[in-house]
Amino acid sequence: MKGFIGARQTTLANEVSLTGTGVHSGAPVSLTLCPADSDTGIRFLICNGEIDGVEIVADQQCVSGVTLCTILSDGNGASIATVEHVLAALRGLSVDNALIEIDSGEVPIMDGSAAPFVEAIDEAGIAELEAPRRFLKVLKPIRVEENGAVGELNPYNGFHLDIEIDFANPLIGKQSLSLDLNPGAFRRDISRARTFGFMKDVENLWAAGLALGASLDNTVAIGDDRIINREGLRYADEFVRHKALDAIGDLALAGAPILGAYKSRRGGHRLNALVLKALFADPDAWTLVEAPRYRDVRHAELTPGLAAAHFAADRS
Ligand SMILES: [Zn+2]
Repeated sequence: MKGFIGARQTTLANEVSLTGTGVHSGAPVSLTLCPADSDTGIRFLICNGEIDGVEIVADQQCVSGVTLCTILSDGNGASIATVEHVLAALRGLSVDNALIEIDSGEVPIMDGSAAPFVEAIDEAGIAELEAPRRFLKVLKPIRVEENGAVGELNPYNGFHLDIEIDFANPLIGKQSLSLDLNPGAFRRDISRARTFGFMKDVENLWAAGLALGASLDNTVAIGDDRIINREGLRYADEFVRHKALDAIGDLALAGAPILGAYKSRRGGHRLNALVLKALFADPDAWTLVEAPRYRDVRHAELTPGLAAAHFAADRS
């Protein structure tokens, strides 16, 4: 494996199962991450009493909801909610192809971060496939502005994230994060950041029958003047790191790893979806490229250092 730069597609080496709770339904959920062939991408397979074997592709064209979480639908009544954290873990660790079998319409929230999915992928292992990895290369700037939120995708040799949040609440305030994404950075700097919510909103959501599974075990709860969770924060700026995690998961719906720089100001699931939509609406704004083979790297436009950082699947 020496010199491996991720020129080939990957999948999981084995199946691995997780159980948890749907954050919105409050219902128990079982999920199994399974290996899949080249060019499958990430697909959800919903199997329960009512719906049996309905497949929903993790693709931006299937996005049907962006309030509180990202929801995908097949257009025939089947849907899968809260897809972003498991997609972030797969994309963050450079897993291109996987089948996610699930017995519910909602991915379990686990601890509110991507860390349990990272652990599961580590347990399963990552296997290289024969087919070359393809990247979605951004060719020209895309910009979306809506209600004070701004999202941009710009050409870049790698995948860069530049995320900024600005909340009136002094416990969050203004936070920003800028990083080149690779499996090590994802694992260390992003994967453990949990979802967060304001106590006053949670009570309204519960009254509306939403967020029934939300608890201090899976959400950083922000009170009037303090963080309610006894253990405190996992990172001093955990909030912006979670926004980055959500962006990685939402942008995984591009269907291929992105070669580009993503900038988000005061964004969220809706902005992430709008930027992808704007990108795909302009056929001149992107193209698919294959990763350079190791021996060709010197001649490619990427420097070997960049290539190693950005193309390597996580081998640790
Ligand atoms: Zn999230």
